[in-house]
Amino acid sequence: MRPLLLLDIDGPLNPYRAKQIPPGYVHHEIVEEEKAWVVLLNPQHGVELNALADTFDLVWATSWEHGANRLLGPLLGLPQLPVIMWPSRESVSRTRRGSWKTPYVAEWAADRPFAWVDDEVNRYDRLYLDNAHPAPHLAHRVEPHRGLLADDFAVLRTWAQSTA
Ligand SMILES: [Mg+2]
Repeated sequence: MRPLLLLDIDGPLNPYRAKQIPPGYVHHEIVEEEKAWVVLLNPQHGVELNALADTFDLVWATSWEHGANRLLGPLLGLPQLPVIMWPSRESVSRTRRGSWKTPYVAEWAADRPFAWVDDEVNRYDRLYLDNAHPAPHLAHRVEPHRGLLADDFAVLRTWAQSTA
């Protein structure tokens, strides 16, 4: 079974904590109807992710939900991807110590192996997934002031090889 690659945007692809625009990134102002966002995106990420699509099935795992395909994927040269839809904010438990996304990620992935890049995953999420998700999984933290780096892509490739 091909592994999933679950992609958070804010943090891994948009390093929102960066004090300056990191090398390789482009500053984008996105406007849609009454809303506006500022994001930093690195076109090289699109190249790397499209290359990883030979191994993984890419999936958006971001609170941008369908906005990822509509607003951000095209800026990175990514095709339309499946989107994990989250429950309403009110129904999400905020008492967990890990990421609020984790139970929903496990549920969405069902029995498939997955790697997940997110700036909020921590050891509590890894413990949760070790218990809740029997298939191979990797919850890989990406620092939100740095975004995805070459080392992170290497980790994903190595993990995919180890589970093949
Ligand atoms: Mg994030």
